[in-house]
Amino acid sequence: MTRELASAFATKNYFHLIGGCLEGSDAAFGVVNPATGEVFAQCPDASRAQFEQAVDAARHAYVNWSRMSFEERRRMLARLADAMEARLEEMATLLTLEQGKPIAAARAEIERGIGIIRHLITIVIEPEVLRNDSGGRVELRYKSLGVVGGIAPWNVPIVLAAPKLASALYTGNTMVLKPSPYTPLTTLLLGEIACDILPPGVLNILAGGNELGQWMTEHPGIDKITFTGSIATGKKVMASAAANMKRVTLELGGNDAAIVLGDVEPKEIARRIFQAAFANSGQVCQAIKRLYVHDDVYEALLTKLATIARQVKVGDGLDEGVDYGPIQNRTQYERVLEILDDTARQPGVRILAGGHVMDRPGYFIEPTIVAGIGEGTRLVDEEPFGPVLPVLRFSDIDDAVTRANDSRFGLGGSVWTKDLAMGADIAARLETGVAWVNHHLGVSAEYPFGGVKESGVGRANGVMGLKRNMEPQLIVLPAGS
Ligand code: NAD
Repeated sequence: MTRELASAFATKNYFHLIGGCLEGSDAAFGVVNPATGEVFAQCPDASRAQFEQAVDAARHAYVNWSRMSFEERRRMLARLADAMEARLEEMATLLTLEQGKPIAAARAEIERGIGIIRHLITIVIEPEVLRNDSGGRVELRYKSLGVVGGIAPWNVPIVLAAPKLASALYTGNTMVLKPSPYTPLTTLLLGEIACDILPPGVLNILAGGNELGQWMTEHPGIDKITFTGSIATGKKVMASAAANMKRVTLELGGNDAAIVLGDVEPKEIARRIFQAAFANSGQVCQAIKRLYVHDDVYEALLTKLATIARQVKVGDGLDEGVDYGPIQNRTQYERVLEILDDTARQPGVRILAGGHVMDRPGYFIEPTIVAGIGEGTRLVDEEPFGPVLPVLRFSDIDDAVTRANDSRFGLGGSVWTKDLAMGADIAARLETGVAWVNHHLGVSAEYPFGGVKESGVGRANGVMGLKRNMEPQLIVLPAGS
């Protein structure tokens, strides 16, 4: 079934969604299946004129969409979620083809995307009454912004597109959404699904290269950019958005530290730590990317992690039973290999599992566990975004917290211990947007998600995330109003 669907996607035509119409383009670019390294489909490449049409369509649609009630918009977005569910297997297969992740993980991603939409549209945004007495009534009301531009990366295209579109649309904005040129097709399929459900122009989806993202950040007809991607691009987005004071929400890179105290049982936590580091082959913003382990359990945990790394099944995501897929694209694959090469040359380094590319087509690197490495190396200081985990040693918890915080990143972090009170205290000392105890990884639509320092600006999801798509207005009324 999965393979049959996959071959149909190789011959399918893909379309942008512009002003309620499905449109091709004169130009196209190839989309590579990272499990083979071969182009498997052609994606339309939006022209400047098509982009302008999309912005115009979004601006026109905004007039009516913003006046609708939350209830009306909720109904339409709920229908979109239902329609995605009906096409789940198709969406998941296409996601595996272009992104590489195992089909079970692709199904889970589409389900998560649907779940996020369904949750966000249950949130009620009420005016906040700041004063109501003989001196007057003061309310803070929330109004939509206008047209929101959404820009997404290639690691979890639907789990990132879904909250962007649900948050923007539910709160009364219209949208122009751009997927990554590496993984555009599942998002274009989402556009085909949305085409019959949402009024024309409310959601526009265009595929194109990086310059399309730049057109979006520069365009005066777009009022806000919600961006997920690298810190380097996030800085460009912020600078460009300044031209017309666009609002921005930036969800950027992470280099999350997990700190394992000496009181844990390595065999109880090893598998969970492994999964939090290697999920999506390490290509998750919030994956564990630096593991700090207390002396008392260092060797035992290291051995367990290396054993798991050697046991897991890495392969083509379309084959059932595969645990981890390839690196998503050649540029990223080469970057991870450079970091591996640099790592192997560090004095005292021990590579306990992996460390090599796999002898097969596609962008496969073995899950790799590295010991004997410290700060000041590319593997520890940068965000490798691949299946390579450095395991660092500590003896003093204050030292571990200082080292974990000594980073320009600040997305997530975790503490692993049997002493929950101590775990909570240490978690609160981490300079991150989220800190877990005995857990790492996972975004819920219920809670605000985002990073501190260079890992981002603003929050997605939850009430706070919805309000980032709105502007507060203070309404000051005389007493008795
Ligand atoms: P990227 O920054 O290269 O690209 C992201 C998107 O920006 C793509 O759609 C790209 O076409 C577009 N783009 C590129 N140049 C642009 C420009 N000048 N103006 C506007 N848009 C532009 O990132 P990537 O390599 O696709 O994704 C990997 C990065 O994303 C990692 O750093 C990862 O940590 C981060 N990420 C963060 C989160 C989060 O929620 N914090 C989630 C997933 C991924």
